[in-house]
Amino acid sequence: MKILISGATGFIGRNLLAHMQSDEYEIYALVREHSTLLDKRIIQLDITSLSELNVELDVFINLAGENIASKPWSKKRKQVLYESRVSLTDQIREALKVAPKKVISMSAIGFYGLTKEGEFDEQTPSTRGFCFQLCHNWEKAAERFKDNQTNVVIFRLGVVLGDGGALQKMRLPFLMGLGGQIAEGDQWFSWIHIEDVIRAILDSIKTDSLTGTYNLVAPQYITQKDFATTYAKVLGRPAALKTPRFLLKLLFGEMAQLLTEGPKVSSKKLEGAGFDFTFTTLESALIDIEKSA
Ligand code: NDP
Repeated sequence: MKILISGATGFIGRNLLAHMQSDEYEIYALVREHSTLLDKRIIQLDITSLSELNVELDVFINLAGENIASKPWSKKRKQVLYESRVSLTDQIREALKVAPKKVISMSAIGFYGLTKEGEFDEQTPSTRGFCFQLCHNWEKAAERFKDNQTNVVIFRLGVVLGDGGALQKMRLPFLMGLGGQIAEGDQWFSWIHIEDVIRAILDSIKTDSLTGTYNLVAPQYITQKDFATTYAKVLGRPAALKTPRFLLKLLFGEMAQLLTEGPKVSSKKLEGAGFDFTFTTLESALIDIEKSA
C-alpha cells in the first residue's frame, strides 16, 4: 500500500510508523525539513516536491499541526495554528496530481468548544470559540478531498496518553508531587491511550469499517481531578497541589481554557462501529504507559 503521512515526526506519527514497518507499506512523509528521526526506507518530501509525486496513493494520513499548547494564543500564533492545519491540508490536496483513495485526518474534541457543560456526541452542536473554529475548518479542509471521490475518516482526538505528548510534560511535576487539581477540577478530561489511536488508524487503513467522523476517546468519563488523583496514585506520589484558575489565566491568557475547561465526549459511535478499546480505564492505561516509561 502506498501511504503519505504528514506530521510523521510527531508523537502520533512516530508511534504509527513503528507499527508500519512491514514491506506491505511504501511510505512517503511530508516534512518541513529532512528528518533523521525517520527510517531510511521512508521517502521524505516537502510541500514543493509533493506535486512531483507521480504515484496513486492508497491513503493519506493527516497528522501535521503546530502544537496547540506550546505558546499563548496571540493573534499571530492562532494564524500559525490555522495555517499548519487548514492551509496545509488544502495545499496537500492541491499539490497531489492523483487524489488518494482514502484520507484519515485528525481533529480534536476541542471541536465541541472548551466547556464543561453538556455531553457531546458527533451530532451535538458545539460551543463556539477558537478551538471550534480551528477544528471545524481543519475538518472541512479534509472533507474537501471527498470532491475527488476519496473516502474521508476524521478522528476527533481526546488527550492522547503515551510516551510523549501531554503526559510527557506532566510526568516530572507529578513525580515531584506538584500534580493536582486545576481550577475546580470538575472539567472533563477526555483521554485515549496511544495504542488505541494507532489501532483506529491502522484499522482505517486496512478496512472500510470506519467512514465519516468519530470521537476517538476512551469510554470512561473522568474529570481533571480524577485524572490527577489516578496519575499520582500510579506514580506513588501525592496530588495535593491546587492550581487556581486566575493564575493560569494570568500565565497563559485565553489558552488557559485548555486546562480549566473540557467537554464531556462520548465514544459510543466508535463502539457502535465495532471498535474494541484495549484500554477502557485510565488506571490501566497509566499503569501500562508508566511500566515502559
Ligand atoms: P506533535 O506536536 O507531536 O507533532 C506535530 C507534527 O506536525 C510534527 O511532525 C511536525 O513536524 C508537524 N508540523 C507542525 N507544523 C507543520 C507545518 N507547518 N508543516 C508541516 N508539518 C508540520 O503532534 P501529535 O503527533 O501529538 O498530534 C498529531 C495531530 O493530532 C496534531 O495535529 C494535533 O493537533 C492532533 N491532536 C493531538 C492530540 C494529542 O493529545 N497528541 C490531541 C488532539 C489532537 P516537525 O517535526 O517539522 O515539527
